[in-house]
Amino acid sequence: SLIAVATVKEEVKMKGSDIQAKQKKYSLQSWSAQKNTAPIPVEKAEGMYFWDFEGNRYSDMSSQLVNLNIGFGNKAVNQAIKDQVDQYCFLSPAYAAESRANLAEKVISVMPDNISKVFFTNGGSDANENAVKIARMFSGKFKVFSRYRSYHGSSFGAGNLTGEPRRYALEPGAPGFIKFFDPYIYREAIEFTSEADATAYYLTKLKEQIIYEGANNVAAIVLETITGSNGVIIPPAGYLPGVRAICDEFGILMICDEVMTGWGRTGKIFGFENFDVKPDIITFAKGVTCGYVPIGGVAVSKEIADYFDDNYLSCGLTYSGHPLACAAGLATINFYQEAKILDNVNAVGKVLAETLEKLKEKHACVGDVRYIGLFSAIELVKSKESKEALVPYGKDPEGVMPKILGMLKAKKFMTYFHENMLIVAPPLIITAAQLTEEMEKMDEVLTQVDQTFL
Ligand code: PMP
Repeated sequence: SLIAVATVKEEVKMKGSDIQAKQKKYSLQSWSAQKNTAPIPVEKAEGMYFWDFEGNRYSDMSSQLVNLNIGFGNKAVNQAIKDQVDQYCFLSPAYAAESRANLAEKVISVMPDNISKVFFTNGGSDANENAVKIARMFSGKFKVFSRYRSYHGSSFGAGNLTGEPRRYALEPGAPGFIKFFDPYIYREAIEFTSEADATAYYLTKLKEQIIYEGANNVAAIVLETITGSNGVIIPPAGYLPGVRAICDEFGILMICDEVMTGWGRTGKIFGFENFDVKPDIITFAKGVTCGYVPIGGVAVSKEIADYFDDNYLSCGLTYSGHPLACAAGLATINFYQEAKILDNVNAVGKVLAETLEKLKEKHACVGDVRYIGLFSAIELVKSKESKEALVPYGKDPEGVMPKILGMLKAKKFMTYFHENMLIVAPPLIITAAQLTEEMEKMDEVLTQVDQTFL
């Protein structure tokens, strides 16, 4: 009978290796040639650690795709989800749900004062797509500027915003998506005499490009306030205010993609707060629920929100404002506030900054370190003087970077790389002692890199 089958099934506990094999057999893994994947089977997880089925403990030093800010097993968030399950799991966006109303209010309460409403999505990619739709409907213009060194998502619309090679699979793409270069001073062909000099250069180029594209055609400029997955590229101080001024001059909307930088990662709730600018539209996902239940959103200025009082908002997703996700989001933001998470990010972030500077000084393979809050990248080079990247852009035939990741993994330090850069972005709950312990492992691995690959 069915009951007998269920009982038998419960008794057979799957082994980690079986889970890995089954997952590989029946599902496709993101961004991978399938033959080479080896997803670690995870049996349990707590805080910044997770364990495989052999009892090995791993440290999550990139927060599960820079997402799991509160770590695993947050009791308050788990309880909020359970309570919502008991009320109901789902309610169409056309009905009013208590958790949806409360999360919307909470999100707006932490946004800049020009932002008045939020449209909920399922994640970051569709947040960016809907931001573009909203900007086009509101402005009546169609061109959208975004940057080459950017990742805004992989679905069709967001993939058109993405500037780096992950967009190639959907080329030739959609019309109206214009790319410009971002301020990546470490690798700029020009030697700038100051940050102000660099800022003026990039802003002049951007303005020139807008004029050549026809300023009257440009609906929006979309930017990650701090470029995330392309290597934690932090703009010089005047850059974002300069972009804001250009937007104001030409009547262009400024859309900040806070999917990775939002919710405390940089030591402020949102990345743009580090630069004293107010965007017209803010997209977010990841840290708002830390993926306990997925959700994203597009927060818009009062002017844009008011426009849709009488004009039809042509956006919709079945799961927009999913009640379970909203319950998780409310509990997550409450946790951030009660735990004073920003204080921890800034205190431990200081230790991270000092440690990274020491690593740069000590290791021949470290060309540049970039950090803000608990968001950082280590850029690996063959030579500090020439800045030649440890692996050339888009090419790593010897698999050098996967080998380095393997060295870290051997020490149970789990992160990911992008091109020649290692990302360090631990959960925001990490303590200074935990961080120091992990960065000692990084130090040892960089010594191995110095000895093996230079
Ligand atoms: N924007 C940025 C800045 C991101 O880092 C990401 C994901 N890494 C996305 C958008 C896409 O979000 P999602 O994967 O939730 O669709």
